[in-house]
Amino acid sequence: MIPPVLPTYNRAPLTFVKGEGAWLTEADGRRFLDLGAGIAVNALGHAHPALVAALTEQAEKLWHVSNLYRIPEQEALAERLVAETFADTVFFTNSGTESLELAVKMARRHWHAAGAPRHEIVCFEGAFHGRSTAAIAAAGSEKMTAGFGPLMPGFVHVPWGDQEALRAAVTERTAAVLIEPVQGEGGIRVLPEESLKGLRDLCNQMGALLILDEVQCGMGRTGRLFAHEWAGVAPDIMMVAKGIGGGFPLGGVLATEGAAAAMTAGTHGSTYGGNPLACAVGLKVMEIVAEEAFLAQVRATAGQLRQGLERLVAAHGDVFEQVRGTGLMLGLKCRLPAAEFVTSCFAEEVITVPAADNVVRLLPPLTLTREEVQEALRRLDRAAEAARAAARAA
Ligand SMILES: *Cc1c(COP(=O)(O)O)cnc(C)c1O
Repeated sequence: MIPPVLPTYNRAPLTFVKGEGAWLTEADGRRFLDLGAGIAVNALGHAHPALVAALTEQAEKLWHVSNLYRIPEQEALAERLVAETFADTVFFTNSGTESLELAVKMARRHWHAAGAPRHEIVCFEGAFHGRSTAAIAAAGSEKMTAGFGPLMPGFVHVPWGDQEALRAAVTERTAAVLIEPVQGEGGIRVLPEESLKGLRDLCNQMGALLILDEVQCGMGRTGRLFAHEWAGVAPDIMMVAKGIGGGFPLGGVLATEGAAAAMTAGTHGSTYGGNPLACAVGLKVMEIVAEEAFLAQVRATAGQLRQGLERLVAAHGDVFEQVRGTGLMLGLKCRLPAAEFVTSCFAEEVITVPAADNVVRLLPPLTLTREEVQEALRRLDRAAEAARAAARAA
């Protein structure tokens, strides 16, 4: 019999009832160290006092009014995002998937308004942009698209890291190139800075727009506010979500005036997108994460965790192959099945997240302390021992 909740998820048998910082309490009382952060969502950990205060203060004032009216919290968050990034304007959504939808619409509409329609979006194998019909067409993998056809046309796929295929795919039919600066679901694959610069040049040459999906790698995760800042180049359009709401559902599309100008009144909308509650929390997240001292702390924590993980991999060469990633978006490429290592981690009361390419992801709260990094490394070490023992026994 089908359960009341549609069983589209492979859920672990864990029920968390309380969260505090990087710690989650299970219904049975066990305390787990959270290196998943709700898949890079709880950027400031659980129940951050400043976010709780922002949320409750706004909840007592006003929850929702609709985008038929001005929303000061939304305007304040947009102004802050514009001040801190390449963008001239922001549209707020509730999720990464909705941000993808608008990014595609915006790129196509841009060319329509220019009087020279282009509709092709060049995407990359291993990409993840969400689960709507457009988003699965953008990802293109059999796993996500099987049975959901006909797929939305206009998406072209290029193997990750294949410069020649990329140059061949970007033509005067290309409306935009869409890429994650660090692939998350695809297995923590970092786009090298040189490649992102090269991609920007290629887009400029062909007149194509560059859309960056920073839903997972943005909002301080790499130690800069947004991952593309490391390469010193800017996109035309950028998708955000996950960390920007710190756990409250919030997403957005940031764009330059040139890319966004065709999105005039009536061309797009959202009932909930950018409502007062979401934006009050989002503004507080931004105020904390955009501080240079906070980002410097993220880089320091990341360095400490990375060093520890390199030692872990060296000590358990039969369990792990390598450490991947950047900042606090790290992956352990496994030799044993990654899912088995994640299960061993649960037994040691540490939460990790599986990804494609047999990688286990570490996406801890950006507020992880030095002591918590040491504790995480001890737990991961014990989980590696247990995973090895389990593999031998099998
Ligand atoms: C999670 C994710 C999405 C989809 O976001 P949802 O909020 O789940 O719709 C899109 N792109 C990337 C890179 C993601 O990690």
